Amino acid sequence: MKMFDVYPLYDIDIVKAEGSYVWDSNGTKYLDMYGGHAVISVGHTNPHYVEMVTNQIKNIGFYSNSVIISQQKELAGKLGKLSGKEDYQLFLVNSGAEANENALKLASFHNGRKKIIAFDKAFHGRTSLAVAVTDNPGIVAPVNQTDNVIFLPLNDKAALDKAFAENEICAVIIEGIQGVGGIRIADKEFLVQIRELCDRYDAVYIADGIQCGCGRSGKYFSHDWAGVDADIYTMAKGIGNGFPVGAIAISPKFTPKYGMLGTTFGGNHLACAAAIAVADEMLEKNLIRNAKDMGDYLMDELKKIPGIREVRGKGLIIGIEMDYDTAALRKKLLFDEKIFVGSAGNKNVIRLLPALNITKEHADIFLPAFRKLLTE
Ligand SMILES: *Cc1c(COP(=O)(O)O)cnc(C)c1O
Repeated sequence: MKMFDVYPLYDIDIVKAEGSYVWDSNGTKYLDMYGGHAVISVGHTNPHYVEMVTNQIKNIGFYSNSVIISQQKELAGKLGKLSGKEDYQLFLVNSGAEANENALKLASFHNGRKKIIAFDKAFHGRTSLAVAVTDNPGIVAPVNQTDNVIFLPLNDKAALDKAFAENEICAVIIEGIQGVGGIRIADKEFLVQIRELCDRYDAVYIADGIQCGCGRSGKYFSHDWAGVDADIYTMAKGIGNGFPVGAIAISPKFTPKYGMLGTTFGGNHLACAAAIAVADEMLEKNLIRNAKDMGDYLMDELKKIPGIREVRGKGLIIGIEMDYDTAALRKKLLFDEKIFVGSAGNKNVIRLLPALNITKEHADIFLPAFRKLLTE
């Protein structure tokens, strides 16, 4: 067989990593300011993580959910402590799309309705319901098209009121900070209004925290900045630091029924060990605080660099909007300066999603290199 040719973007073979650095097969070292799309949260090959995962696989890697997997409870406790959502219920899956898929299903089971509100430029994943609430016609197959989804402009309060008044809304799904869509931040008042309307109409507020969650914004969930509690939070990416782990945190008002949700691999011993190690590191090293502080530092310094249209973000989810397609600039950063960054929006936004434990030393490698490319 050969590979189905949808990847890669760059002809680089990454073979080794440590902390916020990766090495290619030629031994060239790169600074990772992207974490492979927000996945690396506690650093590549983090020692505690490596120890937990290797010890676990020596004991038992997998048994099915037909038995007790005590690590699930331990993980639920630690995620509750990290997020402050101690009374929420955890359901474990394997990816972000699967988390959103289950959240939307649960919402529909809960109130029996079908209409979902989503937002322009939203990205929620590539499986059938997740892609149906994603605003990118290019990745929606005909079989995924549905008239159950209403797309509204982000932060348009009047449009939100109108949609609720005119439809039987099942759920609203929203990223507190859009990642793929261009680091677009949902206004505090807008999230408060979603909370109020969901309460008034018995609809379900689903917060997609897959990219902007896991402490990245400087709070565990970016919706915490607005002081609102969602009914369901979806998580993936950073919670496994590279091991595929997805999760949904479900408000206590939902009552589980046997068989309502299910999965073969979700919550297996090995996945739990990986996610527990991440939670341990985050708690012990106060990485949510570090994300806030390092994000503030990076954004303050970026705002001093000429040639940037706008710097947006919270904590370590940062968008640098330019007046042009950033493909050439990103290539120069990678091949000349040996720094990984990502893109977002219409490719005119550079996206920074470094590990939550980056230090000033890493920022001070990135900043002058970036300034040099923009001013030379
Ligand atoms: C990546 C992402 C997803 C999908 O996650 P997968 O693990 O790739 O399925 C969903 N929502 C958001 C906001 C994401 O960034």
